Formats: sequence, C-alpha cells, structure tokens
Amino acid sequence: MQHCFDIEPMSQWMPCGDKPCIIAGPCSAESEEQVIETARELAKIPMVKVFRAGLWKPRTRPGAFEGVGDKGLDWLIRVKQETGLKITTEVANPIHVEKALAAGIDMVWLGARTVVNPFSIQEIGEALKGTEIPVMVKNPLNPDLTTWMGALERINRMGIRKLVAIHRGFSYYKHSPYRNDPMWEIPIELKRLCPELPVIVDSSHICGKTELLSSISQRAIDLEMNGLMIEVHIQPKEALTDRQQQITPEQLNLLLAELILRKPLGSAEFQSSLEAFRSEIDKIDQQLMDIIAQRMAIVDQIGNYKKANKITILQLKRWNQIFRERIENGQELGLTREFIMKLLEVVHEESIQRQIDVMNKKD
Ligand code: PEP
Ligand code: MN
Repeated sequence: MQHCFDIEPMSQWMPCGDKPCIIAGPCSAESEEQVIETARELAKIPMVKVFRAGLWKPRTRPGAFEGVGDKGLDWLIRVKQETGLKITTEVANPIHVEKALAAGIDMVWLGARTVVNPFSIQEIGEALKGTEIPVMVKNPLNPDLTTWMGALERINRMGIRKLVAIHRGFSYYKHSPYRNDPMWEIPIELKRLCPELPVIVDSSHICGKTELLSSISQRAIDLEMNGLMIEVHIQPKEALTDRQQQITPEQLNLLLAELILRKPLGSAEFQSSLEAFRSEIDKIDQQLMDIIAQRMAIVDQIGNYKKANKITILQLKRWNQIFRERIENGQELGLTREFIMKLLEVVHEESIQRQIDVMNKKD
C-alpha cells in the first residue's frame, strides 16, 4: 500500500498500549495553581498520557484573555517533573517553537487557525527542522482535507516523523448541535488515504459543550481513531477560555471509564461471519454499479433522442414527478427521505451532465 507520510508509528514513542491515547488539560494555562492542581488529578487517571495547556491563545476577538505566554512554560515543566505526564502546547509561529523547544516541551500542536495558512506552516516547519519533537496538526477551520494533508506533508518534509493529525471539527454554515461539525467523512477519508497516520479526536472543540462529549468520544473510538484530546479544568465554571466545554478531572475519569473499547478484530467465528456479510455487500455493490451503468446507458439514449428531436435536456415536470415517486417508494422500503433525496440528486446531476455531453458531441 502506498503511504502518504514517512512516519514513526505512534506506539514507538507514546506508551498507550492498545488503548486510545488521551491528551487532557485546560484550554488555557491561567495560573500555576490551576495548572498544577489539574495535572495532579489527571495524573491519577492511567489512560491520560499527555497534559495539554494553551499558553499563546488565538482568540477570535481582541481584548479577550490571550494566554499567560512564556511564563506558563515553567508551569508545564513543573507538571512534567512532578507528574511524569508528557506536556504539550500550541505553537503558532517560529518564536513559540523556539521557546517551547528551549523549555523542554515534549510535543507541540498546530491550531486550526494556523493550519489554513501555508506560509505559517512553512515558517513553523523551518523552526522545527532538525528536531525530533512530535507534532500534532489540527484540521483547518474549513472542511478541506487537502489543506489539512498539505500542512501535515509540509511538516513531514521538514523531517518530523512523529506526526499526528487532530480532528477538531469544522466550521459549518448551517445550524449544528456542535460547535464545530465533526463531518466524520473527512477524518475517515484521511485514514483511508493515509492509514499510517494516527488521528486523535479533539472532542471538546467539536462539541463546544460538555453534554455531547461522551457520545462524540465514543464515536471516535468506534471509528478506530487513535485517541482523544479533551479539555479539563479544575474549576470549569471559572475558566477564562472555553468555559462551556471544559470538564473536571473527575468527570473525565468517569467519561473514560464508560467508554466502550471495542476490538477491531473479534473471534475467528465473529470474523468469518463478518467476512460473509462483507462479501454479500461486495456483491450487492457490484449489482448496484451494474444497475447504475444500465441507467446511464439509457440516459445516453434519451440524450441522443432529445438531440435528434431538438428538445431541451432539463424536463422539470418529469424530474419533480420522479422525485416524489422515488421518495415514496424508498420510504416504503425503510430508507430515509434525506438519503433518497441525496441519492437522486447525484444521479440526476450525472444524468444531466451525460446529456450535455451527448448534445455537445459532434455528429
Ligand atoms: C485549543 O486547542 O485550545 C484550540 C485553540 O483549538 P483549535 O485550534 O482547534 O481551535
Ligand atoms: Mn480551547
């Protein structure tokens, strides 16, 4: 299989075993006590391996708390010395990188606002060149896999081989229960294209509120993502940033204890039944392709016929009728209205395109 990145498997540098890797800690470092007390509690939870805290905070609007900056580095080092947890923070420019490296930060991450800008990624990459520090790259704000992969690639090309993608959801113009819509198809496609790359799910920034954290974290595990990043504060209600989405160490402990860690591979019997189901699916998909190809062949014939008789392609009345009837049929078969609509739309779009191609073809 072709790989996208030249990376060192996470298992070689992160002691998570076969469990998901958990990164936890406050959105922002606010005071030495807040950082140390949160870390002490987190260190009691065995699955937590890395302590996170933002020092230089990218805020949407000026005037909000912009992080404690450099002085927080010492607090993080204290966390590392006292608890043995690895420590990580966000870097958004080469100066942050220099300071983090000089202080002895174990891992860094690039935030969603930075990842959209290839110039920034290049500069940060240059500053990281020649080091062995693990780098985690969040997805950009907009749902664009190419930008995300481009940033990962740019960092990888600087010789950074301990590479992780962080899925933190995407800005979405429609109403969504999430702060950042998970659009799972994007991290799944990243995994399909680059199976060697670990993906950690930042449930906190996806959810934006604590009630949704468990279900999104479980979904991440069910989709074989490699870990979770969760914002934890010793007193979430007092937090200076992202107050609605932070939980206490105790709540994190409960959330992790309730996670169902399913095995990717079951018993031999389970595996063979699963394979049987899969081969059924393979056959059905093949039939589906055959039927769609047959449909398109007829569409081409209709196109030729319309062309010969000088009739327009789009026959709205006919299309509305198809939509209505198919939705009814599909619903009787237990398919949802949304699914049938989406399906019909892509089929229709392709049919129109084929007829345009027929019309444009020189006889
Ligand atoms: C954060 O992790 O606190 C943060 C600012 O995240 P993002 O870049 O995903 O918005
Ligand atoms: Mn945050």
